[in-house]
Amino acid sequence: MVYSREELLRDISKFLEYCKQCGFCTPVCPVLKVSDYVETYGPRGRLLQGRGVVEGGLRPRPELSSRIYCTLCGFCEVKCIAALKLTDLYLAVRHYLSDSGLIPEQVKQVSKAILGLNNPYNVEPSIKAMWLDYLPERPAERGKVLYWAGCTSAIRNPETASNAYQLIKELSGPEVAVIAEEPCCGWPLYLNGDVESYKEQLTKALNAIKKSGAEIVITTCPACTRSLREKAKELGIEHGLKIYHVVEYLHELLKAGRLPKFELEAVITYHDPCDLGRHLGRVKEPREVLNSIKGLKIVEMRGSGLESNCCGGGGLYQVMHMDRAYRIASLRLKDMPSNVRTLVTACPSCEMTLRTEVANEGLDVEVLDVVDLLMRARRPQS
Ligand code: SF4
Ligand code: SF4
Repeated sequence: MVYSREELLRDISKFLEYCKQCGFCTPVCPVLKVSDYVETYGPRGRLLQGRGVVEGGLRPRPELSSRIYCTLCGFCEVKCIAALKLTDLYLAVRHYLSDSGLIPEQVKQVSKAILGLNNPYNVEPSIKAMWLDYLPERPAERGKVLYWAGCTSAIRNPETASNAYQLIKELSGPEVAVIAEEPCCGWPLYLNGDVESYKEQLTKALNAIKKSGAEIVITTCPACTRSLREKAKELGIEHGLKIYHVVEYLHELLKAGRLPKFELEAVITYHDPCDLGRHLGRVKEPREVLNSIKGLKIVEMRGSGLESNCCGGGGLYQVMHMDRAYRIASLRLKDMPSNVRTLVTACPSCEMTLRTEVANEGLDVEVLDVVDLLMRARRPQS
């Protein structure tokens, strides 16, 4: 949605009118926690600064634009007693900043990389396709079922992408296709407020999917799921495709009694990705899939489900404030139950962020995706 200044002002005024100033949104905000609890960086501060920028009273400087960026984790919304859709408003402010030519330089580079190289990491497309080298064979280019790796799985977590493809192929038959030169779905452009470029990039991605002959698209990335499914629908793009996050797909198979037997003696904990849990509402599904593994025990983290603490990896906050993002990841790792050394999640950005912080701190913790764990736990059906 492209906001005009008047529409945004009206919405911000409405939000401020409904806001009870109770502050329940404040203590849960991960950005506030790593910003010395200075309210400027918290949900209410973000709301007020948004108003200041749009009204014109607050001089829009680069530092101000950078303060508007948060992880968009949505925890403040869960706590808001007035049920305010705060992340929608933060995004609308980003859209306004983008339309006014005020987006920060760091995130501009991300947009440039997507438009130039089809991925936000500014790497050559051949590097993005390197995850295919982990596979025992070259996947088909056409098929009814398509595995959509997404930029972060493909570039940052190639083993997860490879495991996902192999698992989906085992469960869905030989006709699982992959697009070797998969374009970015454009989600970071949306997060940067550049809605027009986002629509173009999303259309390009959907055209590539259609060209593959796919009817079902399965991805390991919850942000791609939001983009290809929810946001496409919201923007009025009818594509007729069934888009699944891999956990949703596995859960559907489980409910239909079509998930094979998995077995693994292990104790793990599960980190709910904000995009999958709070934004797509998938909290019970990953747990039910994991609980179907015989011998597996899940011990919950402090803060889980809809009240999960963020890992710091979302909303392009990491691009703006890398140090603080990893401090958020560090806090999240402290939520792990003692004596549990395996942290499972279902989002490539969470996986990458938490794994990097584990390495930074030299911790004895393994970070895996649900598909990595399932591949480890698979055994022939008896
Ligand atoms: S969405 Fe998350 S990071 Fe952003 S203000 Fe709300 S709680 Fe803080
Ligand atoms: S929880 Fe909602 S109503 Fe309370 S201060 Fe935060 S935004 Fe306002």
